[in-house]
Amino acid sequence: MKNTDLLKPALAAVWEASRCCEAIASELLQSDSQTKSDRSPVTIADYASQALILHRLKAITPDLGIVAEEGAEGLREEPELVARIASFTKRFSPEVNEETLLDLLDCGNHEGGKGTFWTLDPIDGTKGFLRGGQYAVALALVEKGQPTLGVLGCPRYEWIEDAAGIVFSGGEGIPGEFWTSESAAPRKLRSCSEIQVASARLCESVESAHTAHDLSAKVIKDLGISSDILRMDSQAKYAAVAAGNAALYLRLPVKKGYREKIWDHAAGLAVIEAAGGRVTDLNGKKLDFSQGETLKNNRGVIASNGTLHHPALAALLVHTPEASRWE
Ligand code: AMP
Ligand code: MG
Repeated sequence: MKNTDLLKPALAAVWEASRCCEAIASELLQSDSQTKSDRSPVTIADYASQALILHRLKAITPDLGIVAEEGAEGLREEPELVARIASFTKRFSPEVNEETLLDLLDCGNHEGGKGTFWTLDPIDGTKGFLRGGQYAVALALVEKGQPTLGVLGCPRYEWIEDAAGIVFSGGEGIPGEFWTSESAAPRKLRSCSEIQVASARLCESVESAHTAHDLSAKVIKDLGISSDILRMDSQAKYAAVAAGNAALYLRLPVKKGYREKIWDHAAGLAVIEAAGGRVTDLNGKKLDFSQGETLKNNRGVIASNGTLHHPALAALLVHTPEASRWE
C-alpha cells in the first residue's frame, strides 16, 4: 500500500483516538478526587489512544511493524486499570475491550530501523494533557528512514479561528492540510515562509528540562525577533510552525547524552515539510529515523518556516562554544 492510500485510514484513527482522549479528560480530569500528582487519567488515555490506533493499523496494514511509546508490561497485573481503559475504548470500538487490549498494546513493540513502519506517540505532551494545555496524538509512516506520512491530532489547538480540535496532515506527495472536523473539507496550511522576521514568533517546550530556554532567548535576540515566545507542550509546536502561528521551533538539548525519540518528531516533521517549512538537527543535518527508537545520529531539533533556518543555525553557533556543542 502506498503512503497516499494510508492517509484516510490514518486520519480516521487519529480522530477516534483524539475524541477518546478528550472524553477521558473531560470525565476524569474535572473530578474532585483528582489531585495534581494523580497521573491516572493520562495513563488511561495513553493506553486507550494507543490501543484504538493499533487496532485500526492492524486491520489496514497487518504486515507493518509499529514503534509505539507504550507497551502492556505495566498492565498485566492490573485488571482494574485494564477495565477502566476498556470502558472508554469500547465506546469507540467494541472490539478494543478487556480481552484484546493487552495484545493490541503489545503490537507496538517493533524496533524500527531502515524498512517501512508506523511510529506512534499516543499522547505526546502528557504534562500538557494533565494541565489543560496542548497535547498531540502523533502518527507517522516511516519509509527508508524518512517520515512519508504524518497525521497530528491536536485536540486543544487554539490558534486557528473557528477550530476546536484540529488534525494536521502532510507527507511525501501529500499536501500540508488541516481538518477542523472529521467531515469538514481540508484546509491548506498557509505556507509559513511568507512570515517576516518582525512578526516572527518562536515556539518551544514549556519544560526547561526539555530545551534550553536561556539559549533560545539569545538566539531570537540576535535574529531580531521580539514577539512573545509561544510555549506549549507536545508536537503542537510543529503544527504551530506549519500553520504560520510561529516561525521557529527550537529544541536545544539540556541533558547530556539525551537522544530524541522518533515518535516525538516523525509526524510533526512530515506536516511541516508538506507546508513548506524545514526541519534539521542543530548541526543542520537531516533527521535520520532509521536508527531504531531514537534519533541516534542527530542532536536537538530546529524546525522553521524555511527562511529563518540558516540565520537561526548561525546564531546558535555563535552562542555555543565548540567544546560543549551538543553531546
Ligand atoms: P515537550 O512537550 O516538547 O516538552 O516534549 C515532550 C517529550 O519530551 C516527551 O514525549 C519525551 O519523550 C521528551 N523528553 C523526555 N525527556 C527529555 C529530555 N531530557 N530532553 C528532551 N526531550 C525529552
Ligand atoms: Mg512524546
